[in-house]
Amino acid sequence: VGHLYLVPTPIGNLEDITLRAKRILSEADYVAAEDTRTSGILLEKIGVHNHMLSFHKYNSKERAPELIKLLKAGKNIAEISDAGMPVISDPGYILVQECIKNDIPVVPLPGPSAFATALIASGFDAQPFTYYGFLPRKSSEQKEFFEQMKPAHATSIFYEAPHRLKKTLKTLGEVMGDSRKIVCARELTKIHEEFIRGTVKEVNEYFAEHDPRGEFVVLVSPNEEQEEVLSWQELIKEVDALVAQN
Ligand code: SAM
Repeated sequence: VGHLYLVPTPIGNLEDITLRAKRILSEADYVAAEDTRTSGILLEKIGVHNHMLSFHKYNSKERAPELIKLLKAGKNIAEISDAGMPVISDPGYILVQECIKNDIPVVPLPGPSAFATALIASGFDAQPFTYYGFLPRKSSEQKEFFEQMKPAHATSIFYEAPHRLKKTLKTLGEVMGDSRKIVCARELTKIHEEFIRGTVKEVNEYFAEHDPRGEFVVLVSPNEEQEEVLSWQELIKEVDALVAQN
């Protein structure tokens, strides 16, 4: 059988394609791409010429069996998305699942992804973190997610479209309060890369002056409030201390 290679592509800066990614994209029998036009331009720029198949979220269910057939016939397929890692807020998951079911080896390549790139420069602790992908568009539905992020001792990460960012941050402030620290990472690896760091209030003030443009990753700081409840270990220590006193 063939192999399914999951190949990350740059999220902006073309130099971020790895040597291995380039080789796999050249050597595979097919490149399955979300948008064959967009990816065609990328492959051209990095000097890769190969056969392309379209595989996107609207045809992935029907397309997966066809790709499985090719893989079973011994063909190697390199799967890419428009940018970054396939599967991460992009199609690919269904195909990976089908490969596993059919005993077809899945080979993931490391490489760029917007959430991890934003996380390491956010200044927030990266352990633990929760990645939410795109939140629902409706404020009422977003609120449920923000309620989850509010008490979390993890950094929360999500993607948002520029034209929805201001409204989403307003909803975030309504749930988490204006003093929670956030970071908006904009246009990572590109010319206009920028980190807007501050409290929800400060970041909102910034966007009132500068309309959000480009691509964004939003990071919410871990909840830093002290736990009021004692852990079991602490409780046992307190009791031991009391017993020792008597
Ligand atoms: N597969 C991609 C990854 O690994 O990050 C994510 C694809 S998702 C369809 C596209 C979203 O990722 C954008 O709307 C934006 O929120 C985020 N994104 C992608 N590239 C970015 C960049 N260069 N800077 C900031 N955010 C980016």
